Amino acid sequence: MSSQPISPQKANILVIDDTPENLNLLSAMLTEQGYKVRSVTKGSTALRGAQASPPDLILLDINMPQMNGYEVCQNLKADFRTQEIPVIFISALEDVLDKVKAFEVGGVDYITKPFQVEEVLARIENHLAIRNLQKQLQAQNTQLQQEIRDRQQAEEKFAKAFRSSPNPIAIATLAEGRFIDVNPSFLSMSGYSLEEVIGQTTAEISLWTDTEAIAYILQQLKETGALHNQEFEVCTKSGDVKTILLSVERIDLAGVQCALFIANDITERKRLENEFISLVSHELRTPLTSLMGALDILGAGQLGTLTEGGQKVLSIAITNTERLIRLVNDILDLERMKSGKINMQKNKCNAADLLAQATEAMQAMADLAQVKLQTKPFAIELWADPDRILQTLTNLLSNAIKFSEPGKTVWLSAELKNGEPQEHRTSFADTENVSQKLSSPSSQPPATLLIAVKDQGRGIPGDKLQIIFERFQQVDASDSRHKGGTGLGLAICRNIIEQHDGKIWAESTLGQGSTFYICLPITHVVSG
Ligand code: ADP
Repeated sequence: MSSQPISPQKANILVIDDTPENLNLLSAMLTEQGYKVRSVTKGSTALRGAQASPPDLILLDINMPQMNGYEVCQNLKADFRTQEIPVIFISALEDVLDKVKAFEVGGVDYITKPFQVEEVLARIENHLAIRNLQKQLQAQNTQLQQEIRDRQQAEEKFAKAFRSSPNPIAIATLAEGRFIDVNPSFLSMSGYSLEEVIGQTTAEISLWTDTEAIAYILQQLKETGALHNQEFEVCTKSGDVKTILLSVERIDLAGVQCALFIANDITERKRLENEFISLVSHELRTPLTSLMGALDILGAGQLGTLTEGGQKVLSIAITNTERLIRLVNDILDLERMKSGKINMQKNKCNAADLLAQATEAMQAMADLAQVKLQTKPFAIELWADPDRILQTLTNLLSNAIKFSEPGKTVWLSAELKNGEPQEHRTSFADTENVSQKLSSPSSQPPATLLIAVKDQGRGIPGDKLQIIFERFQQVDASDSRHKGGTGLGLAICRNIIEQHDGKIWAESTLGQGSTFYICLPITHVVSG
């Protein structure tokens, strides 16, 4: 049945009366009012007509030969095509109108002849309006039911995906970071039961190996609304450490702001990768050293003088072998640092000396690239491994020069900061701890040295600013070929700085340049 509301002007009315005069009278009266009128004199004809093209309302005479009005009405109500049509009975004053029966068989009203035009019209309009409202309600009901079905289907789909996903998934409130649901993969990865997790915070189940991780994640969510494929280490119930790639989205669950965590357990992949890298590097080191020795002997002319062409080929071979040796050494260096096999040799050293030495070391490269190198010395004592800090500074300067066009400038500067910088994980301690720290008047933030390497180079896209600190990550896959890098430098820098309890991060504007910051804690300040 149509769910369109009926407009009184266009309503279709079927009039059934065996007396032609009555029929004509009613038809004329209704047509004059703008209704579309069909009139029939026999009940059986009326039924067929109503079924074929259901009217909006029926006026039905009671006293008719063959099939009387009550029977016609019963038949109408028994058929799904016509059962909703309002039926108004018409009876002559001399007829004995059985009102109860009229309503029992499904009539909505009755009119007695002779009619009063206003009364007939008022009743018709009333019932059309009621029918209109009924239709609207039915339509809304159908729509609501459809929406409920759609929602249930969507929820079922999500629940199925949530339960059967091989990826560990968890939902936690944003305000407190309390788990409200986790899937079976999360439980099997973490080793906890559902009861041990629901209602707890990640800190309460000591999930992160880095206690600042959750505050960092929440901060990222606040700033960008999401976090994609970042590597974290988590601790299982039995104390095993697992490496995960984590994506987090902000979601609204019935008005409650939540975080949806989707993890990918890459522990095994990482282990194999590490094993493979260390195996390959160790296996490469010896033959590479011997290859380099052989090339040196050739270059020294000990085996005869090379032609000019031979010298060129030799120099290409030497450059590439050196690059390979650098790569292998970097891999081994990073590996040893990560596994804690390299201890930082920390001494008292002066920042100004380190800045000057780094500049001196990179001056030749800057001159070659026609890049101006400007250093602002800053004298302050640090407790650090000078060689490793120098390694970090030269790596940052080398990148800055590498990615700058001739004629541009690279600045190296340092300044003292009170407290930790706004950027990066330093400010992302557990939310509760942050508020404690901030509200505690006695806690004096430690002084830090902020070193900046700023360039006017090509810049780094926003989504790469963090990932470039992972090993083998480069903004452009061709960087290693064109710029001669290995993609390991920044990973090594980060490791060195973290072993000094410091932080390293980058800020950049594409096409305008980048600034790499290092923040190191200061133990004793000598002068400024
Ligand atoms: P690489 O040996 O490739 O320089 P790094 O780890 O030092 O390795 O740097 C990783 C990548 O980060 C670089 O390959 C480059 O894509 C990007 N990058 C680093 N520093 C800069 C910079 N100053 N300007 C633009 N891109 C940079």
